[in-house]
Amino acid sequence: MLSEKQLKQLQKASYKIIGKSKHSAVKLCLWCKKSIKSGGENVCYKQKFYGINSHRCLQMTPCLTLCNLRCNYCWRDHSYFNQRLENIDPPEEIIEESIKAQRKLLTGLGGVEHSEKFLKEAMNPNQVAISLDGEPTMYPFISELIDGYKKRGFTTFLVTNGTFPEVLKKITLPYQLYVSLSSNSEEMYKKLQNPLLKNCWRKLNETLELFPSLKTRKVIRLTLIKDINMNHPEKYAELIKKASPDFIEAKAWMCIGGSSLRLKYENMPSHDEVKEFSKKISDLLDYKISDESKPSRVVLLKNNH
Ligand code: SF4
Ligand code: SF4
Repeated sequence: MLSEKQLKQLQKASYKIIGKSKHSAVKLCLWCKKSIKSGGENVCYKQKFYGINSHRCLQMTPCLTLCNLRCNYCWRDHSYFNQRLENIDPPEEIIEESIKAQRKLLTGLGGVEHSEKFLKEAMNPNQVAISLDGEPTMYPFISELIDGYKKRGFTTFLVTNGTFPEVLKKITLPYQLYVSLSSNSEEMYKKLQNPLLKNCWRKLNETLELFPSLKTRKVIRLTLIKDINMNHPEKYAELIKKASPDFIEAKAWMCIGGSSLRLKYENMPSHDEVKEFSKKISDLLDYKISDESKPSRVVLLKNNH
């Protein structure tokens, strides 16, 4: 349960906490705001890569306070993370409140220069990114949550750290499933991602093995940190080969939020460095570089199968 002080800190950071038990939250994505302000001129790389609309995207989490890792590159504040929820809000309540919260947050944009058309459209979000904070597959009703958004006509993106393969095996799969892979060995994983349980690396590997059987669009996200995890591309290639995702997103770690206290500014790779590392992975696998976004320092690799 969040303390009053933590709640205030999160509200100050523009989070809208939702649900009676306060384990869920919505935050307007920077790109959603940029798109509304610019009338679609400035959009996120996922709009460019996958065709979603940044201005109609709802960024939320049902697990604001839950995660079983403590990744050094995580931009969240780990002090409010637990491993268990005391009370659990039902998915329908979370969905309804998330949409209301998004609308409320959007009204704040009425006072700045913006596109009226885009703001009006944004009031009816049609894309949800279940990724804001924490590990979403720890929410016991994640399947019903995805179902509920789907029933309302949303495309659903779920980002997981991959340590709960047993959940991924049985849930309604999202439209696009992301698994984060930011270490190429157990040793690196322990140092960089600080798992709270011994079996997390094994579980992540189980998820990678499970990946080919999951019938949805799948992405492996590499968060690249200079001098920390940008080495041994062949080890990443071995792990990715098992999963055979449709896409690999190789993205630079950005020096923001809580991570800026755990890593150094110099650990942030340039776009060219991300591209160079992506090429090495591409050369080792049957994937080709199909797109990139310089402002976000991200390169997209597409499976040639
Ligand atoms: S897909 Fe991600 S980056 Fe793009 S608008 Fe949604 S939350 Fe933001
Ligand atoms: S798994 Fe995600 S939310 Fe959890 S510590 Fe790592 S980056 Fe942060």
